[in-house]
Amino acid sequence: MKFDLAYCLSLDAKLSIYDVRDLNFDETMEFDSAKEHFQCPNDACRTAFDAANVLTTFNGKNVNYVRTPHFKNTPSTRHVADCPYVSLKAPMPGVDGAETDDTREEHFPSELLLTRRQYVRKPSSPVVVADMASDAAKAPSAADHGEHPTNESAPDKTTVFAHPVECFVSNFGDKELLKRMPLKIGEHTAPYGSFFKKIEYLQDNKGLIYWGKIKEIKDYTQSFRIDFEQKVWFKQADEAKKKPYSVNVYLSKKLIENYRKRKAFLQEIKHAIDSDKELFCFFYGVTPELKQVPSKKNPEQTFGVFSANIENLDHFIIREAPGLAEK
Ligand SMILES: [Zn+2]
Repeated sequence: MKFDLAYCLSLDAKLSIYDVRDLNFDETMEFDSAKEHFQCPNDACRTAFDAANVLTTFNGKNVNYVRTPHFKNTPSTRHVADCPYVSLKAPMPGVDGAETDDTREEHFPSELLLTRRQYVRKPSSPVVVADMASDAAKAPSAADHGEHPTNESAPDKTTVFAHPVECFVSNFGDKELLKRMPLKIGEHTAPYGSFFKKIEYLQDNKGLIYWGKIKEIKDYTQSFRIDFEQKVWFKQADEAKKKPYSVNVYLSKKLIENYRKRKAFLQEIKHAIDSDKELFCFFYGVTPELKQVPSKKNPEQTFGVFSANIENLDHFIIREAPGLAEK
């Protein structure tokens, strides 16, 4: 069975697997999921056992994953009888913990928060944390097992872009579901199905998550350029009809150099350059606009191209997405 969250002992917080991946690759944080202890997110269940009763991760550290990352039981993980995480999909005896459906992300965050989640390591000595006082007003009753979700750990919100992208990619075949599930980013709310916009239709609306198949990645001195396969059809004011324009985005190498997940990001893009697989790019935060650029062959001439500079690498992903290959 899959877990949407797991309790991380050292951070004293419930994390999604996407939080864990973000922490693993963050060079400013000391964190390695292989050395951390993850436990059942149900507080009553977790506290019923000792710290050795753990969950494990799937695709927690793999930069270029295809199958949906998740937490899962180890062969010896135990849960209390009424733990909501043992019901439904509990493996049949003797089936050796077989997963029923681990190829889909079933937990759709309803909001992508644009500010990064902050983590505080649990102090090793039992010092009283100052901001615990704010929780005092709401004394935990027996019924709510001391659960106090904060903004960040609310299961329906995420700060990691890869999470809504995985929801979209792994459920791409289920159009009805993508139409039903809402996603909010900043002030804009739309179903997943329309928040994710094919790059060729970028003129329809600004401020969406744009995605498309990558045609080529160019490695320049100052930047990488990602060219998309699809073109945007656009009619200039002085022209009679629409013409197709190429679309690209630029990634500044300076931006990458200063990125907290620099190593993982370089690994992701190098892998993409060398890969012969179909790759897709997803980004949020900028909308490519028509620009005139000088022609290489004839520098006095210019041609039009829809282009944007990526401003935040946290909201940019290149990945394989087998289900998205166009028919
Ligand atoms: Zn449990």
